Amino acid sequence: MLRLREFKLPLEHAEEALRAGILERLEIPEGDLIRIIIFRRAVDARRLNAILFVYTLDLELRQEAETLKRFEKDRNVDVAPDLRYKFVARASANSGLRPVVIGMGPAGLFAGLILAQSGFGPLILERGKEVRERTKDTFGFWRKGILNPESNVQFGEGGAGTFSDGKLHSQIKDRKHYARKVLSEFVKAGAPAEILYVSKPHIGTFRLVSVVEKMRATIQALGGEIRFENRVDDIEIDDGQVRGVNLANGEHIATDHLVLAIGHSARDTFAMLHRRGVHLEAKAFSIGFRIEHPQSLIDRDRYGSHAGNPLLSAADYKLVHHASNGRSVYSFCMCPGGTVVAAASEPGRVVTNGMSQHSRKERNANSGIVVGITPEVDYPDGPLAGIAFQRHWETRAFELGGSHYHAPGQLIGDFIAQRPSSKFGSVVPSYTPGVKLGDLSQALPRFAIEAIREALPVFARTIKHYDLPDGILTGVETRTSSPVRIKRHADTLQSMNVKGLYPTGEGAGYAGGILSAAVDGIKVAEAIALNTTT
Ligand SMILES: Cc1cc2nc3c(=O)[nH]c(=O)nc-3n(C[C@H](O)[C@H](O)[C@H](O)COP(=O)(O)OP(=O)(O)OC[C@H]3O[C@@H](n4cnc5c(N)ncnc54)[C@H](O)[C@@H]3O)c2cc1C
Repeated sequence: MLRLREFKLPLEHAEEALRAGILERLEIPEGDLIRIIIFRRAVDARRLNAILFVYTLDLELRQEAETLKRFEKDRNVDVAPDLRYKFVARASANSGLRPVVIGMGPAGLFAGLILAQSGFGPLILERGKEVRERTKDTFGFWRKGILNPESNVQFGEGGAGTFSDGKLHSQIKDRKHYARKVLSEFVKAGAPAEILYVSKPHIGTFRLVSVVEKMRATIQALGGEIRFENRVDDIEIDDGQVRGVNLANGEHIATDHLVLAIGHSARDTFAMLHRRGVHLEAKAFSIGFRIEHPQSLIDRDRYGSHAGNPLLSAADYKLVHHASNGRSVYSFCMCPGGTVVAAASEPGRVVTNGMSQHSRKERNANSGIVVGITPEVDYPDGPLAGIAFQRHWETRAFELGGSHYHAPGQLIGDFIAQRPSSKFGSVVPSYTPGVKLGDLSQALPRFAIEAIREALPVFARTIKHYDLPDGILTGVETRTSSPVRIKRHADTLQSMNVKGLYPTGEGAGYAGGILSAAVDGIKVAEAIALNTTT
């Protein structure tokens, strides 16, 4: 296959224009172009009067070698890389005890899938419920304010990203094309095929639910076992080697290979690991608020007169500001056409996050606006101090919201002008159970408030009217990434001080988002496969 990069066509191009354009660009006759695979399609909206689609194409040609030779000096023409996933090892009769995976978020799901596809018949233990039951509990919380601490946005089949925008892009280095394996598996399980090529793929909440269900069936069909409502409360370590796990129901399960894919909100599990002497470190993360604007405001700024064109998805943005107090403020997990969601997993605490459906058709755009914090400066008291920090501000948010899971909120204009809000304007907040307007200045540490207050008008220089007085801030956004790292060896991917223990994904501090967590899960599955067969 030949790869052709930077192939540009106008936004409203006819379907045949792609094929015709390739023939012209490569100067080949019609019969020489056998197959076109769109590897990537991005939108270039830098010139609003000439928005372009920018393609990366993999092409099967009749005269491939000859064409490559003719274009050898053209840096946009090359041999296409082989994207197929290659298994590193297969299970054998003497592979030993079956591997156990704790957690069925993206990291645990993909660790489990690869182990199952390699013949290891893994056991996956998930504290939450299967995804349909979990959906009922989560929607129950959003609609009625009844929180189930074991079945919510953070816990249950599919992990933290199930009720999300399902964004699937990541900045990770990926020389082995693991991301392609992840996206292909999602498509096999029913995700839209376009996620394989659009530059910022996303699945959306309702589709994610059925994707997760189908992947569960695949793992089971391959000999894997999945148990829901099976919380791991303890791990057994003998002479520096994992020997098994103890469940909340009293059961003991023996294993020599244990994947820790517990996510960033399993605070009780982090505490247990600390008690058992597993090497943990406090890690930097970010805190802030969710911000909501009309999606049309963002679309107008990004697309000009093309705003609303069905060929363009709802526009997103990425913003960063280095504040004068030394803190960085940035947009986090922006959800075009989505809703702000209640993402608490502990009673008496309020946490915000964002999600959207595949169509991204809701009225508001939302994003985290967060400030970076570090253990060195902000929570220096040991590996679990970041969790104590989160809990403090989540409890404060619960109280400011009226102590029944409403989020405290303020209009952007009032927040900047330092006066409390008492009445909503043109923007209706999407957060349920509800928003209690007031003064957010007490909802986060002073340095964070000052940095965000400074950043919002600065962001309005990039996105016109970003400081819209009627826009809404709700808080608090504290679960941006794990406050803990479960440190592991770079080569074996096993814990620094416990053999057979494989920390992975977001909770272990080795991923930030669905795609990178899934990729990390594949890596630990490979490490186990290699370790048990060599
Ligand atoms: C509302 C929301 C929206 C998001 N939107 C996006 C997005 O659009 N794009 C994106 O890339 N990322 C998004 N994220 C982040 C993304 O969900 C996470 O980065 C990702 O899920 C991390 O995967 P993971 O497998 O490491 O952990 P998790 O997904 O957190 O999974 C961990 C699993 O382990 C289970 N578990 C924990 N402790 C135990 C135990 N003791 N015993 C048994 N099971 C246990 C939990 O129940 C959970 O299911 C979002 C997160 C949230 C909350």
